[in-house]
Amino acid sequence: MTMTQTAPITQDVLTIPRKLPEGPKNLVGLTRDQMREVLIAHGTPEKQAKMRVGQIWQWIYGWGVRDFNEMTNLSKAFRAELAESFVIEIPEVVSKQVSEDGTRKYLVRIAGGHEVEVVYIPEDSRGTLCISSQVGCTLTCSFCHTGTQKLVRNLTAGEIIGQVMMARDDLNEWPEPGAPKDETRLLSNIVLMGMGEPLYNFENVRDAMKIAMDPEGIQLSRRRITLSTSGVVPEIARTAQEIGCQLAISFHATTDDVRDRLVPINKKWNLEVLLEALRSYPKVSNSERITFEYVMLKGVNDSDADAHRLIRLIDGIPAKINLIPFNEWPGAPYERSSNNRIRAFADIIYKAGYASPIRTPRGEDIMAACGQLKSATERARKSRREIEAETGQGG
Ligand code: SAH
Ligand code: SF4
Repeated sequence: MTMTQTAPITQDVLTIPRKLPEGPKNLVGLTRDQMREVLIAHGTPEKQAKMRVGQIWQWIYGWGVRDFNEMTNLSKAFRAELAESFVIEIPEVVSKQVSEDGTRKYLVRIAGGHEVEVVYIPEDSRGTLCISSQVGCTLTCSFCHTGTQKLVRNLTAGEIIGQVMMARDDLNEWPEPGAPKDETRLLSNIVLMGMGEPLYNFENVRDAMKIAMDPEGIQLSRRRITLSTSGVVPEIARTAQEIGCQLAISFHATTDDVRDRLVPINKKWNLEVLLEALRSYPKVSNSERITFEYVMLKGVNDSDADAHRLIRLIDGIPAKINLIPFNEWPGAPYERSSNNRIRAFADIIYKAGYASPIRTPRGEDIMAACGQLKSATERARKSRREIEAETGQGG
């Protein structure tokens, strides 16, 4: 057995305890309460702790500062103490690709040498960052590239919010300390639609998004954050209750038969159970609608009958429907529906009174579109295998 040989892979999140670095503790990803506790544990008087958290928070999340020495409203002695006990660390960018359409795809490395992908999609006067919540995904949706990646671990809250901080670094979008708030933002929206199932990493996703929404820091409104789930029914209500962001459901099929094949979690929580959870979804405000994502797969789920069934199924749920032309990846067992088919499907939905935008694939030339993400190391491993098979080498 060589050093690099890995343990047998299971469908469970590998529960290898994350080996905490022996050295200083990372402040990134701590909630305000947690930060207060660690400051007190390191000797900050209780009476001062809340104020100190406020100051440090503003530097880290308001101004993007990573060096305690720059925190000029803290005494020199306190700054030195902080630097001894703590670090301010975010994932490291391994590579960055820029698509013809301006989409940026980052490969970032997190503790343990794992890698995840992050995608920035610029739009007119706004921009969306698609972030990952897990390395790989334990689920195996048959049309999703990420679902073919076996190695999985949950990202920490720091690694999740760290992706947002990394993108703000790259976009050079941290305001100068003391500068007035700029209302137009390059990074104005976040979608949890990268690698992983966010509701299988609920607490870390929640804590990270609370940091993103905090009025003293990155300050994104809860309306500008969307969490997409394949349908982890027991956790759905908590999204509204504990995070308050927008909810998107990877619906993708109108019969249990087809959904079992596309989104296997349907075997655990089928359409009826899922729709029941959505009907009783505790809305934060009355105007809010749930987004139904629907990937268009040629000959699989794209008939007129599917469109009519979809409308019947979601009847009574405040909804918008987002049609996603299937994004191809090497070896994918599906094809994208034709443009005419997608338009005909959209038309039926539109006539039934629903907004039915068709999502424009972005960054396809750099494999950055929905469902194309997979760690480069995994990809490299696979292509090596493929090369070996082609040349008849290896085993
Ligand atoms: N795990 C979560 C979030 C990540 S996937 C979920 O499944 O909802 C984000 C969206 O991309 C989901 O709606 C997913 O179904 C969709 N998707 C996955 N693979 C795709 C592909 N190849 N083409 C188009 N959309 C895809
Ligand atoms: Fe996981 Fe979502 Fe891909 Fe399904 S579609 S395998 S839940 S990332």
